[in-house]
Amino acid sequence: MNTTSAAPTFDWRGRADALAVDGRAFLGGRRAAAGTGLTRPTISPIDGRVLAELAACGAHDVDIAVAAARRAFPEWSRLGAEKRKELLLALAALMEQHADELALLETLDSGKPILQTTTVDVPGAISTLRWYAEAADKQNGELPAVPPGATALVTREPLGVVAAIVPWNFPLEIAVWKLAPALASGNTVVLKPAEQTSLSVLRLAELAAEAGFPDGVLNIITGTGREVGAALAHHMDVDALAFTGSTAVSRTLLEASGRSNLKRLSLEAGGKSSNIIFADTADLPEAAAKAAFGAFYNQGQVCSANSRILVQRDIHDEFAALLVDAAAGYRPADPLAGLEGNGALISSAHANDVEGWIRRGRADGEVLFGGERREIRGSDAYLEPTLLGGLGSDHDVHRDEIFGPVAVLHPFDSEEEAVRLANATDYGLAASVWTSNLSRGHRVAGELLAGTVSVNTVDALGNTTPFGGFKQSGFGRDLSLHAFDNYTAPKTTWIQFG
Ligand code: NAD
Repeated sequence: MNTTSAAPTFDWRGRADALAVDGRAFLGGRRAAAGTGLTRPTISPIDGRVLAELAACGAHDVDIAVAAARRAFPEWSRLGAEKRKELLLALAALMEQHADELALLETLDSGKPILQTTTVDVPGAISTLRWYAEAADKQNGELPAVPPGATALVTREPLGVVAAIVPWNFPLEIAVWKLAPALASGNTVVLKPAEQTSLSVLRLAELAAEAGFPDGVLNIITGTGREVGAALAHHMDVDALAFTGSTAVSRTLLEASGRSNLKRLSLEAGGKSSNIIFADTADLPEAAAKAAFGAFYNQGQVCSANSRILVQRDIHDEFAALLVDAAAGYRPADPLAGLEGNGALISSAHANDVEGWIRRGRADGEVLFGGERREIRGSDAYLEPTLLGGLGSDHDVHRDEIFGPVAVLHPFDSEEEAVRLANATDYGLAASVWTSNLSRGHRVAGELLAGTVSVNTVDALGNTTPFGGFKQSGFGRDLSLHAFDNYTAPKTTWIQFG
């Protein structure tokens, strides 16, 4: 975590009070109310303030958004990769100019600390956008071997209209993970943000228009998953759907694709990732600091959160003490104060659910650290980072995704046991391994069923490396050149000349 900017003295609260927020959708190049005129308030978990009235769009508005994206597709796809690159880079430059505003919207909407949105979420989104802009005109086709008298070209073609449905935990970053490769490769996009966190991507679409994107290339449709998300999933004129969210919703999207037009799906679903710490780890304090980060960062609302911490028995107690110290760094504070530490969970209701898990952990095991709810500025959406122990490895806390700042510590004896415990989940998104034995690091990484295995770090991630899951964590990959596979199809053009 980069924690260098967002000086605590900056008056973020004053800026928040002065911020004008528009909650209308962004369809066909301009702001739009829902066809019905209905709105729904969006509330900040930080202090309960109403941030804006969001357009409560429905199926009719989805038709309008998809039609706008369809109309824009021929021009956008034929514009050429170099021109698309320039427009994406112009958008990245505008995001940079408006970085503070985007960070503030993200913090108010999601509860993340401003220190995080200014140093991670917004710079991360800009960096990913630039990466795909630069990749746009550096993709080459293939000339496969064919019999004499012919030439075959294999080109990557955009699919058409891409719908993206994204969650609330990294609203801007995950949106860019989808729309950057989709747009760079010539598709047009209809993006549905989570109903809790629509504001940063709505502003992003305005900036895209300012950058010169043709109308309809990027549309943002606000509304609920049940109405807008489902309408996109069933739409006959949506060619591909890129999703990040729960495994339960992923299942409904697969069904909807099957019942409609067999639209291409990429699904990044839930996770329950393990962090395995072997007794031969060279730097235990570093491992403990990273383990706390892996479990509690972003209030633990991270799909790849390392929420199961498996520690070799010989070092269990020593490591537990180090981890308790490190966890203290994730105590919640006012997200607008510019301080280190965690912010608010996405809502008070979600904090209730997470607290329910803590109660179960307390009843069946013990709370080694934290466990308490906190009230800050009249909001009770804050929870202490919580470390549970003394729970059997088949306890629900070990298996279910809690999606909050709750981790469970568990001892193991052998390498085989560690791998078995880590793989004993329906998910397969990520895992971490700490050891100073290179052979063991490789061996265990090979045996873990996870899309990303981090060795001697946690949750390793970058623009250049694919991110996604095995098993019920979904399929398809975000980030890296592999993401283009979600949004393009190979096309063979065979030219017979002999
Ligand atoms: P969610 O699945 O409830 O919602 C995600 C998105 O889907 C939202 O935009 C929501 O409005 C929409 N949606 C809800 N019901 C829908 C339906 N029936 N049809 C179409 N769309 C629908 O998940 P959430 O609570 O927003 O996010 C938490 C989940 O997301 C966790 O399970 C977490 O692991 C997962 N997640 C995964 C990744 C990843 O990359 N694998 C990243 C972040 C979050």
